[in-house]
Amino acid sequence: MYQIECDTHTHTLYSRHAYSTIEENVRAAAEAGIKLLGSTEHFSDMLFDDYKSLKNYQYLLCLGNWPRQWHGVTLLRGCEADIVDMEGHLFGHDIDITRSTIGDVYDPPKNLQDLVFSKLDYVIASVHAKRHTEGQSVAKNTEMYIKALENPKVFFIGHIGRAGVPFELDEVIKRAKELNKPIEINEHSFFWEGYHQVVCRDVAARCAEIGTSICVNTDAHMSCEVGHTEKAQAMLEEIGFPQELIINRTRESFIEGLAKSGVVTFDEASLK
Ligand SMILES: [Zn+2]
Ligand SMILES: [Zn+2]
Repeated sequence: MYQIECDTHTHTLYSRHAYSTIEENVRAAAEAGIKLLGSTEHFSDMLFDDYKSLKNYQYLLCLGNWPRQWHGVTLLRGCEADIVDMEGHLFGHDIDITRSTIGDVYDPPKNLQDLVFSKLDYVIASVHAKRHTEGQSVAKNTEMYIKALENPKVFFIGHIGRAGVPFELDEVIKRAKELNKPIEINEHSFFWEGYHQVVCRDVAARCAEIGTSICVNTDAHMSCEVGHTEKAQAMLEEIGFPQELIINRTRESFIEGLAKSGVVTFDEASLK
């Protein structure tokens, strides 16, 4: 088994098809030996019919109220934003907000993505709805992923191995290395059999060969899943993946990785 001290892709009740509160996740993280937890709700039109109303994003807008240390776990504030077009734009980039949560008028309007991202430490970019990728070439899909990864707030692409969008592995993995950003290996991708498991394995194997780091996360939608990446680790052990390329092996290595990528730099005092 590997040393993995951080779980940096997890969901709470806010994400609607997830079932635990933030405190339940933090407690579960502490019990599983996790030292740093990243809570990353869906930022997506899948959550609300009225997805253009700022009222629906209060949970994210108020993340500043969370403690940085809770039950001995460092808590980071993130989201998992949908990639919404072939240019790699993320959800909210084109949504104007004309009223505050209490109904005051914003004139000029504010941008939804700016309002939310300014409250976050980092963003995961994921493909969920795939409509925009229909009929697109592998080269175009690759470009979409690279552009999303180049977004200065994005630290990694979520579950790239199971999104079902074919892309050139090496191009994305090499670009990630240049950007000092990891490739995610996602435990949820090992919950059911399928071709995506072959892709995940290939992704990890090429990361090892190219020297790109990976981030091994649960994508927990329930507190009992937090910190448990046994299936992903079994695959990594099979291919002899090197421990030193796991960016979330320690709390320090993950924080250092975030800084090196330019996404966010913490001084230790701010995490107390
Ligand atoms: Zn989800
Ligand atoms: Zn997720």
